Amino acid sequence: MIYKSDRFSIYFGDASDGLCPKEYLQVGGQTPLAAREPYARVCKQLNATALTFCHQTHSIEGHVATLTPTVNPAPFLRKGDFLITSQPIAIGVMTADCLPVVIYDQKMHSVAVVHAGWRGLIAGVIEQAIMQMEQAFGSCRRDMQVWFGPAAGACCYEVTAEFKERCTQYAWRDELFSVRDGTLFFDLTGCAQHLLHEYGLAGQAINRTHNRCTVCDVRYCSYRRDKERAERQMTVVALRT
Ligand SMILES: [Zn+2]
Repeated sequence: MIYKSDRFSIYFGDASDGLCPKEYLQVGGQTPLAAREPYARVCKQLNATALTFCHQTHSIEGHVATLTPTVNPAPFLRKGDFLITSQPIAIGVMTADCLPVVIYDQKMHSVAVVHAGWRGLIAGVIEQAIMQMEQAFGSCRRDMQVWFGPAAGACCYEVTAEFKERCTQYAWRDELFSVRDGTLFFDLTGCAQHLLHEYGLAGQAINRTHNRCTVCDVRYCSYRRDKERAERQMTVVALRT
């Protein structure tokens, strides 16, 4: 599924097109992803000549991606959970229930892609990406638009009572948890949306069209559903030149 605007394109991967890697960390840093399947087909759909990812660790660290003289950071080598760029290089995250987030700044024509599981989310990974866009590109958060990709939904995302205790600092905490048949469920995307409001982004700047539940919608890769067999869907964004 490609979301296209005249300034940038986003690839929202799912299991239907067969472009879901599993052993991606073994790809190695020196292989240009634009020449290697399944990444090459994603690049082609985005009309991108280069693509990179971080080695994701549920942190709040991230990097500026640049194209010259070589792709930096090299694919899957540097630890981090978001990438930002203002250059025509495609940047992506891999997910299987965590929330992929794309942030586009229309004024400075720059973009971020973020890997947000509950740990990174409440530690502030999205805010870190926004702040780095402001520092690196002179972006302003009121010019940013946000797209949420597919993630485990409030229908399926089971959490522990201890986790709920960790969220006591949020006034809106009770809206994010629900109990069904004695099991506690968490609304990861709802949490991201509340946090974005706190960071100063307006509700109408957030697009949830592509935010399907990865667990109960079998078109998507889900770690919670498939455990170790789970592949990963890519969410990749590329600026148009
Ligand atoms: Zn679900």
